[in-house]
Amino acid sequence: MAQYNEILLAAEKKAERAVETYRRTLIDTQVSCRHSEIVEGGHSATLRPFRVCTKCGYAEEGWGSGYSNLNNNYKDVKIMSRDEASKYVRGVVLSQDVHWLTRVGRSRRESLRKVLEEHQEVSF
Ligand SMILES: [Zn+2]
Repeated sequence: MAQYNEILLAAEKKAERAVETYRRTLIDTQVSCRHSEIVEGGHSATLRPFRVCTKCGYAEEGWGSGYSNLNNNYKDVKIMSRDEASKYVRGVVLSQDVHWLTRVGRSRRESLRKVLEEHQEVSF
């Protein structure tokens, strides 16, 4: 029995390392992406709308001008249902309480990296 336990623990450690490697790759990609193709999932009765880059999956919640890195001209943003837009999200949708911090200090890329390192989560 102990042997099976050790095998499974070793496999879990491998899986955890793979998830962390993916998370690091996701953050690097989202920091360097120009976020040029954006879609918006509309609001619901209780939830704010959110925007997501279809290329890298970076996502922010907000209204109109309430986006920090996905504030492209409204006419260039394709509006769709929340379910449809959610399919493009990789990691989490950053709340307004969090993504505004990417506008503070340093360069935009450095600030975005810091925020993503603290808040980006992935799961499979
Ligand atoms: Zn992007």
